[in-house]
Amino acid sequence: MSPVVVVGGGVVGLCVAHYLATAGIEVEVVERASLGSGASWGNAGWVCLSHSAPVPSPGVTNYALRSLGRPESPLYLRPRFDPRFLAWLWRLWRNSSEAAFRRGYFAVAELNRPTFDLYAELAEQGVETTLTRPGLVHAFLSEAEAGHHLEVQRSMAGYTVPDDVTTGPEARLLDPALSPGVRASYLVPGEGVVDPVRLVESLAQSVKNLGGQVRENVGVTGFLRARGRVIGLRTTEGELWCDGVVVAAGMWSQPLLASLDVRLSMQAGKGYSFTVDLDPAPAHALYLGDRRVVASPMNGSTRIAGTMELSGNNRKLDWRRIVAIAQASTHYLGEWFDDPEDLPRRIRDPWVGGRPFLADGLPVIDQAPGHDNVYVATGHGMLGVTLGPATGRALVDYVVSGIRPAVLNAFRFR
Ligand SMILES: Cc1cc2nc3c(=O)[nH]c(=O)nc-3n(C[C@H](O)[C@H](O)[C@H](O)COP(=O)(O)OP(=O)(O)OC[C@H]3O[C@@H](n4cnc5c(N)ncnc54)[C@H](O)[C@@H]3O)c2cc1C
Repeated sequence: MSPVVVVGGGVVGLCVAHYLATAGIEVEVVERASLGSGASWGNAGWVCLSHSAPVPSPGVTNYALRSLGRPESPLYLRPRFDPRFLAWLWRLWRNSSEAAFRRGYFAVAELNRPTFDLYAELAEQGVETTLTRPGLVHAFLSEAEAGHHLEVQRSMAGYTVPDDVTTGPEARLLDPALSPGVRASYLVPGEGVVDPVRLVESLAQSVKNLGGQVRENVGVTGFLRARGRVIGLRTTEGELWCDGVVVAAGMWSQPLLASLDVRLSMQAGKGYSFTVDLDPAPAHALYLGDRRVVASPMNGSTRIAGTMELSGNNRKLDWRRIVAIAQASTHYLGEWFDDPEDLPRRIRDPWVGGRPFLADGLPVIDQAPGHDNVYVATGHGMLGVTLGPATGRALVDYVVSGIRPAVLNAFRFR
């Protein structure tokens, strides 16, 4: 018997590996660098039901076009002539209708429904998930923006959202870190935060405890095929025989799948984060709505994250984006630094990660077309930490039974 090989040691690949191992399947994770070194390292760690909306939404393309060449904008599109990128943008625009947005939102909310139960189950199985559930405060500078945001969330339901927005001077009282600039806010209780690095490490440990193997610094470079099936992988450490493969290589899944003639149109939605000690520190996860910046209480400090930068599938860190996030946050958290020149001394761990994005904003969790022992789990965009366990469980149900669970219908190859 050969193992099922999971390509990619990010949160999605490791969740899949965990559920494969708990189903009694021999599993080997192959990660070309270190575990979590892709998008799963410096993210904001939110585990939440209330942000299940796909990024393509009515008006998003106009918003993106207005941001052309403006690196301080929350959604930044670097002008470039790349036919694949232009085709992807065209599809993004096609997927931004109200109907597509609502369909996508419902599908993600449905997949997301068991998330907190699955996190609890992982903890019972010995995974140190690090999940805490402080709730998520949505803070806005504009009452109208807050009202609109709450209305969209209320129409999707499936989780507890308040009836009304708190406005005026009381708005800042929902969290000790909020400043008087905040004019509207509301709390979605029970939403969670994890330390993504510790989660990834503990998932890997769990795979090993269940008899699986986790190999770092081994890159997959191609596939070995016989009689229409993948029978092995070419790696930087030689050939590796396998019974099946799950490609969970984040934004690098596309070139890997292309070598199997499987098409996937993805772009990296680059996001940035850093860690800072604030006084007072946020007690909740914070969504700083108008500027689309987030803040998470993490290990006694605060992780601030944000931006969606479409500038190619690379991990180049543009310091201007860090400054833009820090400056945006001061509208909500007060002037926690005097001068952008001081930021390198004030913050820790500046980081950039590439969120894997398909043009409709939905992941692919499916069997690869034309390859009955190759599966794919990628494209989780802003929600890989949240959706990792639900993805892993549903995909492994599919692998084991051969029948696609209904909850995955919206996440087929398309
Ligand atoms: C700033 C920011 C904040 C975010 N905040 C949140 C949040 O609060 N909550 C949330 O749910 N999500 C959040 N996300 C999104 C989340 O981080 C991603 O959706 C998630 O990490 C994707 O996980 P993944 O396993 O699919 O990909 P990755 O973590 O990128 O993992 C893919 C792995 O595959 C490996 N790999 C690639 N090619 C090969 C190869 N050929 N051979 C072997 N290995 C290979 C890579 O090295 C990498 O480790 C955020 C993202 C960013 C950028």
